[in-house]
Amino acid sequence: MDAEQLRDYAHQMVDFIADYYKSIENFPVLSQVQPGYLHKLIPDSAPNHPESLQNVLDDVKAKILPGVTHWQSPNYFAYYPSNSSVAGFLGEMLSAGLNIVGFSWITSPAATELEMIVLDWLGQGGGVIQGTASEAVLVVLLAARDKALRKVGKNALEKLVVYASDQTHASLQKACQIGGIHPENCRVLKTDSSTNYSISPDLVTEAISHDVGIGLIPFFLCASVGTTSSTAVDPLLELGMIAKSNEMWFHVDAAYAGSACICPEYRQYLNGVEEADSFNMNAHKWFLTNFDCSALWVKDRNALIQSLSTNPEYLKNKASQANLVMDYKDWQIPLGRRFRSLKLWMVLRLYGLENLQCYIRNHIQLAKHFEALISQDPRFEVVTPRLFSLVCFRLLPPHNDEDHGNKLNHDLLDAVNTTGKIFISHTVLSGKYILRFAVGAPLTEERHVNAAWKVLQDEASTLLGSLVE
Ligand code: PLP
Repeated sequence: MDAEQLRDYAHQMVDFIADYYKSIENFPVLSQVQPGYLHKLIPDSAPNHPESLQNVLDDVKAKILPGVTHWQSPNYFAYYPSNSSVAGFLGEMLSAGLNIVGFSWITSPAATELEMIVLDWLGQGGGVIQGTASEAVLVVLLAARDKALRKVGKNALEKLVVYASDQTHASLQKACQIGGIHPENCRVLKTDSSTNYSISPDLVTEAISHDVGIGLIPFFLCASVGTTSSTAVDPLLELGMIAKSNEMWFHVDAAYAGSACICPEYRQYLNGVEEADSFNMNAHKWFLTNFDCSALWVKDRNALIQSLSTNPEYLKNKASQANLVMDYKDWQIPLGRRFRSLKLWMVLRLYGLENLQCYIRNHIQLAKHFEALISQDPRFEVVTPRLFSLVCFRLLPPHNDEDHGNKLNHDLLDAVNTTGKIFISHTVLSGKYILRFAVGAPLTEERHVNAAWKVLQDEASTLLGSLVE
């Protein structure tokens, strides 16, 4: 590492990135390249001799950026946001600069201790940063599984049952696959519009009673605050009580909407979270913290540690052996871990709670504005109540011809995304193809929402016009 070369190159790189942000609106937000495009542009083998940074940056411009979907574009409204910010970027930069691998306290005491402190700022005790919500649900499922097996006997794995809804993120399914839960023991409870796609506690109780009746062992219940398709919020208090009375682990996935709950007016969506055994929110989604940074809090940290700890000779050290410290390697799947708390710390310090609350409220305000635009155009409908910054809507099929509704909305999605002017995504609710408009990119302003709405209206007019012809 040549410090002077780093200074020179890093300045050039920062200039490159700053210029990128300045011109980000000029790119088609959804990459328009075809599969395999890059093979034709990049040599088949790595260079023998060093190349200049300028050459590489020229290639980034000419060959890489066309294949980038611009998640930070103000015209990005797809899936859920994945925010970047100056503070988040600087934290990442610092973390890359220090480049520590903080698996045990001794490998960088500041990494472990800052992570504990920053997560205590945000939540209450027992916090750890995982890479993603998928890792978070996996580690807590493993902890819950082993805790249950310690109680009922380790041969009972086949009998363990997991409960969630048909709106729960697919990462739970993956966790069950990895955790060896019998595929037939994953209860996917049906939701519908009568509860705005949140789980009905009665269905959970019924399913549990049925399973207990046939000798199965309920052990894990997963609720969501802000489901992926439509931001449905499950009734935490009731579900928590059900989990408690059946001695089940209760996990709450608030990957996206957890961020909104820093505003007092949205805190109500977490009522009952006290009953949870674990709670997760992705700071990398809607909390200005560059990917990846998923905060997980666990009540019974020993359960996690019992499932995930190893103690090989080559990692033994005085502080760990004396139980004076926490080693986060025992709270996660990999050994190595990044100094992720730096960026979250920088976000919290450089913006402060007040600005973060404004940031969330502004996006929600923009989503409300979009919702109001939709309701002024009778050709469209808002499909589910907007709770946060996601609006689920669709183009109504002419003459109520529902047979064509799904194709029509599918075609509209394709048409608007192909313009490159905006990027939105979709879901299916109760068999209907729904368009999702998620406000959350840090650079999005009202003018972008208005322009997006114009693109949607124009493409809808073209599609409906072609139906008439
Ligand atoms: N849970 C919910 C509710 C989500 O919306 C998502 C992703 O959008 C996830 C979990 C998975 O997130 P990650 O990519 O961090 O695993």
